[in-house]
Amino acid sequence: MADIVSASERSRVMSLVRSRGNKSTELRLIALFREMGLKGWRRNYPVNGKPDFVFLKKRVAVFADGCFWHGHSCRNLKPASNTEYWTRKINRNMERDREVEAIFVARGWRVVRIWECELRHKGAKAKKKLEEAFKEE
Ligand SMILES: [Zn+2]
Repeated sequence: MADIVSASERSRVMSLVRSRGNKSTELRLIALFREMGLKGWRRNYPVNGKPDFVFLKKRVAVFADGCFWHGHSCRNLKPASNTEYWTRKINRNMERDREVEAIFVARGWRVVRIWECELRHKGAKAKKKLEEAFKEE
């Protein structure tokens, strides 16, 4: 089957294919934590489900997810080639995300899922979510 994705389209798609462990996303989140005065976070703490950040004392797990990779509904980006492959992969990620979230919630943790797109515009949306998660203090 011919690959009908143009080079520029491909690089656009690939730029969205960033899973967890995206440095710039993590750094932006850290800046937000600082701005909000949230303390006690650990990055890449070795726990099942691999949240990007955990606040151990407050029992809050923060996941920073790439929109494409984790199937956020914010953009309707369907790769022109290998659609089936990507759909399957993204669905699997979403399923796993739900499972991991359920495990944390069952242990009495709060889970904050920050989408890549929510870090835009000075992270206003991400900030709101974090405020919500840390409210009962
Ligand atoms: Zn998004």
